[in-house]
Formats: sequence, structure tokens, C-alpha cells
Amino acid sequence: MSKNEEFNLLPGEEERYKPIEADITCKKCGKTHKLTLRACVNVSLHPEEKQQVMDGSFFQYTCPDCGEKVSVSYPLLYDDMSKALMIYLLPDETEEALRKLNEQQSSWSEDMLKAAKVCTMRAVRTQNDLCEKIKIADAGLDDRFVELTKAFVFAQVMKQRPDLKPVMVLYEQQEGKDGLIVMDKEGKTLWAEFPEGLYDEVVRMFKDIVEAKKSTNYELIDANWSVAILARNQGAN
Ligand SMILES: [Zn+2]
Repeated sequence: MSKNEEFNLLPGEEERYKPIEADITCKKCGKTHKLTLRACVNVSLHPEEKQQVMDGSFFQYTCPDCGEKVSVSYPLLYDDMSKALMIYLLPDETEEALRKLNEQQSSWSEDMLKAAKVCTMRAVRTQNDLCEKIKIADAGLDDRFVELTKAFVFAQVMKQRPDLKPVMVLYEQQEGKDGLIVMDKEGKTLWAEFPEGLYDEVVRMFKDIVEAKKSTNYELIDANWSVAILARNQGAN
């Protein structure tokens, strides 16, 4: 579903987050229904909605004709003011949508720009990526250093398990320990703990290269980002 054109990506006052009307065709019965999709979820105002985002029910709609549950992915701003965290889910043509979103900054209000200076502002491609960012913030970690730590641990995992064909690598805590979960093409999953002290070491190694926040842009901090940072670091040595 591509709704970027009709969707007002402008953050700011509440009325700017206009709900989006979308036609959804049910996969089971083939009937089309108009859905009203919310453009923003503010979990500071509505804490119960955080769990709905995490378990995916926020994105699920039930077909009024046959009862089939339909999952809908569309541009959504996840806003957690208590954590100064703003995450934009941009599922279609993420880079292009992100470029447009950041271009709109010139029309942001003073208040919005002030908020953007102190907020962690991220863009993500998928609902899973959105949940990962929320989990990282809940763990009190910086997603940039988590992404770099993941790169090191993932390289180790692949050395030990060359049989895996990873499709997804996400930060996940198990039994209170930080680690990553690798999901494989054939449905295999593997969780690997971050070795003791590695995250802190990564912070020490990369804090100069991972620049202090200057821009008010939404940023895509993912595996591609960490590859670029690692390459820059090698160039520096
Ligand atoms: Zn249906």
C-alpha cells in the first residue's frame, strides 16, 4: 500500500496528524472497505497503545464481512515524549519518504524544532524495526551503539553458524541480558548474548565517530548505517 502521497508527514500540532483514509481489500473475501488509519501514536498520552504497537494489534483490522484479520502497514509516527523518542515508520520507499519528511522541516513550528533538537528521531522500514527501537530505548541503550555491537556479534554468529541464512537480525533481551536474535530463511532462530563489556567498549571506540547530535532530521540507523560507520573507522586507522 502506498499512501505517502496523500499522507501529511508534517509533525507539529495535533491537528496536523490527519487520519488517512485507505481502501483495504480483504485477502479472504475480496471485499473492499474504507479504513481510517491514524497517523500518529502518542504513547505518553495513551500508554496502552505501546503494547498494541509491540504485539502488532495496532496494525490489525478485522474485515467486517468475513472477520479475517488484515495487517496494514503505512506511515506512522510513534511518539514517546517521556523518552524523548520519535520514530517514523515509513514502510514504502523508505529512503525517498524520509528525504521528503526531512525536507518539510523548513515549515516546522518553533516548538517542533525545539523538540527535535532534544529528541532521538529515527526512521524505520518495518514494524519489527519499530519494535526493536522501542526495546532498545526501554533498555536505556543508544541504538547507534547497539547497531554497531550487533555488527560485531552478528559476524561472530555467522562464523560459528555458516548454515544460517539470516533474513532479520534484531536486538532482543532474553532473561534480562542484551543480545540479538537472528531469524533465518527457513524459520530457524538463534539468540546470541552481547559479550560482557562489548557494548561499553563499542561506545568508547566509536563515540568520536558517531557524532554528537547536530541535526534535527529523522535518521535511518540500521545495518547499512553501521557498515558505513565501520568503513569510516577503518579509513581513520
Ligand atoms: Zn473479508
